[in-house]
Amino acid sequence: MAKITRRNFFKLGAVGAGMLALGNNVNASAIDSKKVKYDEEYDVVIIGSGYAALSAGITAAKKGDKVLLVEKMGRIGGNSVINGGLLAVVNSPKQKVEGVQDSIDLYMEDSMKAGRYINHPDLLKVIGKRGNDALKLVEECGAKFYDKLSHLGGHSVPRTYLAANGSGSGIVLPMFDYIEKLPNVTVKRRTKFDDFILEGDRVIGITAREKYKFDSKLKDDDFENKSGTKKYFKAKKGVILASGGFSCDTFYRTQQDPKIPADADSTNQPGATAGVLLKAFELGAVPVHVSWIQFGPWACPDEKGFGAASNFNINASFRYGISVNAKTGKRYMNELADRRTRATAMFKLVNDNKNYPINICDQVAVDKIIPDIAEKALKAGVVKKYNSIDELAAAYGIPVAELKQTIGKYNDYVKAGQDPDFGKPVDKTDGVLIAKAPFYGTKGVPKLHHTMGGLKINTKAQVISSYTKAPIPGLYAAGEITGGTHGASRLGSCSIPDCLVFGMVAGENI
Ligand SMILES: Cc1cc2nc3c(=O)[nH]c(=O)nc-3n(C[C@H](O)[C@H](O)[C@H](O)COP(=O)(O)OP(=O)(O)OC[C@H]3O[C@@H](n4cnc5c(N)ncnc54)[C@H](O)[C@@H]3O)c2cc1C
Repeated sequence: MAKITRRNFFKLGAVGAGMLALGNNVNASAIDSKKVKYDEEYDVVIIGSGYAALSAGITAAKKGDKVLLVEKMGRIGGNSVINGGLLAVVNSPKQKVEGVQDSIDLYMEDSMKAGRYINHPDLLKVIGKRGNDALKLVEECGAKFYDKLSHLGGHSVPRTYLAANGSGSGIVLPMFDYIEKLPNVTVKRRTKFDDFILEGDRVIGITAREKYKFDSKLKDDDFENKSGTKKYFKAKKGVILASGGFSCDTFYRTQQDPKIPADADSTNQPGATAGVLLKAFELGAVPVHVSWIQFGPWACPDEKGFGAASNFNINASFRYGISVNAKTGKRYMNELADRRTRATAMFKLVNDNKNYPINICDQVAVDKIIPDIAEKALKAGVVKKYNSIDELAAAYGIPVAELKQTIGKYNDYVKAGQDPDFGKPVDKTDGVLIAKAPFYGTKGVPKLHHTMGGLKINTKAQVISSYTKAPIPGLYAAGEITGGTHGASRLGSCSIPDCLVFGMVAGENI
């Protein structure tokens, strides 16, 4: 920290303290509270307006805290409001109704396996234990869910709730309506966090710019954009960072993983940049797993971003259908494997001269999902309908005899309840075959989706310092800006519970 007390000197060791003394200060730009005249005073200041921020804000406000949320963009909700609305909850009421046997241990094992066993188990356990509290919170705000559970790739059992409108907006907007009505909460849009204000070692406020205008044409908005008017906000109890991931930060993501091309398409909103993360690192926060960046395997090259095809593939093609190599007509992966496994398998095809794999399912599969999802994807022209397998094969140039053979083999596996080729859990796909016309086809490509890494927090959502190895006083974080829960690769529907649970934990503990 900036102040080198005798105690800190010994904790830092001579090298660390020497670095500070040399001016290579870990919080070189943080502002001393003594030099500040505050414009407004709050108990808690929260950066962001997605799941993590709203959950933290509602929880802190319910305790009686005076809360400020600042959001740099014109619209609230970040990635949360455009997301798929899929939320995994262990031992949930719907699992009881559907007779699904689940446990926190099984959820943790599924997540650890997908995360290549580098997940932080203490954090994962909190999500497993508090998922039902998070569900209760959003239902209290008015969120509604589809009546059937989804079974997503990498999960041993169905445990995923889906927002009734098939989108994160079905959860975020009711949360936002709820928080806006609370008398002790202020939300400021177009207000960008710039820096921390410190009282000794404690985070006691922030500087932010009001009337800020994000500019997606800039190469690096966080550092080049000077718009807005500077304000000083006091946060008597502390600051909660809930500013999301950095999938759209082309410079920073490439430094973490040079394999990612600068023009790689992402499913994220353009404001998903690394600025807040870097400010917290400056303050000494421990970086965790920052170079683990995930690609979503269900996206489509015929549209930008997450689009309409992703939800269709997640809910219909991958669970109830197959994905084939367009050149051979053969399957090449377990369609319900974790995301990293699937993205790796798909990139092998795509990198062969843009040989996009084709995802296929039939009418029975489509009848099992929310009609809105299929309608949107068909209207966007990214999922197409065919009267026969011959027609579908001709449209994508797939060798038809091979494709028919592949489908026949897959149907036999579903009937037998076992997939000896790729180990897809076909015993959990409700016996759905690829048999009833019309048939549905989509081109597939993995897109940059989630930044696994971020700030190290403890089970109380306090940000941990690399220097003192203890919590940075007054600093909390939740959601995609944190790292550790998902390890190397997260499972689908596991970010929403992460954000909601740790938002709640931060709001409780601050
Ligand atoms: C298309 C899509 C679909 C997804 N579907 C699912 C799903 O179905 N299930 C699931 O579990 N996960 C899903 N995810 C992942 C999940 O949506 C995100 O991980 C989650 O929304 C992150 O929430 P958050 O609250 O941490 O951040 P966000 O919701 O991204 O909110 C962070 C906010 O902070 C703001 N901000 C950033 N910097 C500043 C600053 N300096 N000052 C002020 N504000 C700032 C941002 O503009 C943003 O609005 C999906 C993601 C995407 C992109």
